[in-house]
Amino acid sequence: MANVLDGKALAQKIRTQLQQEIQSLQVKVGRPPGLAVLMVGENPASAVYVRNKERACEQVGIVSFGSHFPANISQAELTEVIHSLNNNPTVDGILLQLPLPPHLNAIPLLYEISPDKDVDGLHPANMGRLVRGEAGLRSCTPAGVMQLLREYNIEVAGKDAVVVGASILVGKPMALMLLEAESTVSIAHIKTRDLAKLTCDAEILVVAAGYPKLITPQMVKPGAVVVDVGINRITDYEGRSVIVGDVDFAGVEPLVDYISPVPGGVGPMTVAMLLQNTLWSYKQRVQYSLQ
Ligand code: NAD
Repeated sequence: MANVLDGKALAQKIRTQLQQEIQSLQVKVGRPPGLAVLMVGENPASAVYVRNKERACEQVGIVSFGSHFPANISQAELTEVIHSLNNNPTVDGILLQLPLPPHLNAIPLLYEISPDKDVDGLHPANMGRLVRGEAGLRSCTPAGVMQLLREYNIEVAGKDAVVVGASILVGKPMALMLLEAESTVSIAHIKTRDLAKLTCDAEILVVAAGYPKLITPQMVKPGAVVVDVGINRITDYEGRSVIVGDVDFAGVEPLVDYISPVPGGVGPMTVAMLLQNTLWSYKQRVQYSLQ
């Protein structure tokens, strides 16, 4: 039976550590860290994510500058909001909740966020730092996967790692972080001709495709470490709406050494990394007042 990579428990442990650190730092600095979460329109899934992020901020002592804008806000108005948050000294992190309504273009808006406040790690400057192996704000979901592997003392250096999915949000930064940790990385995507051939050789398999049960028991190496990033809402055989990952958990779990569940695996780690990034950004900004 595999060891379950418990992201929910680790995320809670990280939050407790962050809360204690923030409590002692803010006495010296004179203000708590601040995170601005920008949401546009009425996307119900986004509203749930934003609420979770705001609640998590509150729990650790990060002030949340939540702003909810009407769906008809213009590109110029939203750009102006981002500029004013860039210049606000009490804001350490800015997060633009995606997706945006169709009349707005997300990429130029993400580029307007100051790289020093880009707690989602999506700005090209932060992606560039990751490519160069320099310190910087790292994309939350892959950073959460790396922290989960570290928590369970899983050796990454020298291992054959396969990332299924090559998005800018998850797959690409994930592959770069595994490379930074000195594994030998392959990346699979929708045009990959023989996915099973790659995954069967993976000692570490990270799956972020957004396709339920993409990874079957025949596609994993016995004894592998499997991290399931996928979040898919499906209707089960009893007609209930449930969340599942990209891995056939019941089939794969008996064959491998470690596996992350969905829910309760990578998802909670993503939010914990957002909080960790906000604290990191705050510490960069206030380091002079701490000396
Ligand atoms: P995306 O749609 O932007 O990218 C999916 C990637 O998977 C693409 O590179 C595509 O080529 C590849 N892919 C799709 N089907 C494939 C197949 N059959 N074989 C091989 N490759 C395939 O999605 P994303 O934003 O990267 O998210 C991926 C999944 O991770 C989604 O289920 C998403 O909900 C989930 N996600 C979870 C978290 C979290 O916190 N746990 C965060 C972000 C995304």
